[in-house]
Amino acid sequence: MTKTQVPAIEGWFTTDPERPALLGTRCTGCGTYAFPRASAFCANPACPSTTFDEVELSRTGTVWSFTNSCYEPPPPYISPTGEFEPYTLAAVELANEGIVVLGQLAGDTTVDDLAAGTPVELVIDTLYEDDEHEYLVWKWKVVD
Ligand SMILES: [Zn+2]
Repeated sequence: MTKTQVPAIEGWFTTDPERPALLGTRCTGCGTYAFPRASAFCANPACPSTTFDEVELSRTGTVWSFTNSCYEPPPPYISPTGEFEPYTLAAVELANEGIVVLGQLAGDTTVDDLAAGTPVELVIDTLYEDDEHEYLVWKWKVVD
């Protein structure tokens, strides 16, 4: 049986396997980008605008900071395999927007594979699954 693939968080990213993208906003007043999307006020404290265009954000960026997570987070965290396995997290500065987006690293990338400035690209991967669904999330993959 093929499981239905659904985003773990609705509306935060597209799931096109060829060209996945994070969905953010660009302020119509000052051009400031936001992820997750802005809805009520602009991230720029000097800007009074309350309207934002939804935009696909850069699919590439560079590692700004990183760490590994060796302790199981509290619920609602769900381990993909039922048994907690440490994973690697990176804060990535997007290529064009200059904002930083956190995400897990794809595959078995460890902190030993990363440095500040390492180029990465966005991929969609399974966060966890149940009997009927595969829940998807974005991850960062090191560009070879
Ligand atoms: Zn603004």
